[in-house]
Amino acid sequence: SVPLSFFGGIGGASRVGVLVKGGNYLEALAKTGVVVMDKTGTLTKGSFAVTRIRPVNCSEQELLEWAALAEQFSSHPISLSIRAACRPAPDQSRVTDGAEIAGHGVKAVVDGRTVLAGNEKWMEVNHIRAAQGEKPAGTVVHVAVDGAYAGYLVVADQIKESAAPALKALKEAGVRRTVMLTGDDPAVAQAVGQQLGLDQVHAGLLPGDKVDWVERLLQEKRPGEQLVFVGDGINDAPVLSRADIGVAMGAMGSDAAIEAADVVLMDDDLSKLPVAVRIARKTLAIVH
Ligand code: ADP
Ligand code: MG
Repeated sequence: SVPLSFFGGIGGASRVGVLVKGGNYLEALAKTGVVVMDKTGTLTKGSFAVTRIRPVNCSEQELLEWAALAEQFSSHPISLSIRAACRPAPDQSRVTDGAEIAGHGVKAVVDGRTVLAGNEKWMEVNHIRAAQGEKPAGTVVHVAVDGAYAGYLVVADQIKESAAPALKALKEAGVRRTVMLTGDDPAVAQAVGQQLGLDQVHAGLLPGDKVDWVERLLQEKRPGEQLVFVGDGINDAPVLSRADIGVAMGAMGSDAAIEAADVVLMDDDLSKLPVAVRIARKTLAIVH
């Protein structure tokens, strides 16, 4: 049975916008030692702007239209931004087939031609030699048409204003280790990690790699410590359930993520997490 004051703790958490789905999770939160986070949508706003268009053997508009049409098979924040940047909206009937490949990008049939859009890994898988050399500040989305490289777009995200204070408060609340797991390029990931002072950054990960890292971090825990994973549910649903405590973003997160999570941050504000840890610790102190 759950001690009565746990309900007070859960109520206290809910008043600051943190939904805790049971007394056992409140008790676990009090013992948070390791906080693992996704980047896009968790530490960053997850709303990208297209900042560069670099066509190869085609026009900027052609490149943008191919990317935007192929991206309709994805609901990733990168996809939404590319589609929003393509004005006027291209004729949807040009697309006849397509699919999203998690952690890689998309593949679609546009104008009867096979269009690929995604990261460098996605080009490698398809034996396409992508452009290199320029080190742009942002995530690169490469495009290929019928096996030929067609250029790239750069999309840039922004770190949330709440991220740095939240990480500082987590450390002050006794969290030993902060880790970012991301599918994005190492260059982008390192820049974010450094700016936020994270203890560890692991980039270029596929959804399965994120699970492997969480398993490893679970093994490295100290006795009694709990591991929290915070994500938006896009490409990280498996790690949400694997962590001791899965925390989902309530506003941006998918319905499936909110369902699978043990704790939900109602307005996507990471700084609510240290507040919840403190409430949990106080509650536990009262109970014991
Ligand atoms: P994160 O861990 O930052 O949330 P994801 O696992 O969601 O990242 O995606 C990893 C990477 O895969 C992205 O940084 C991007 O390079 C690529 N990617 C995923 N979905 C798409 C898409 N729809 N279009 C282009 N690239 C994509
Ligand atoms: Mg994500």
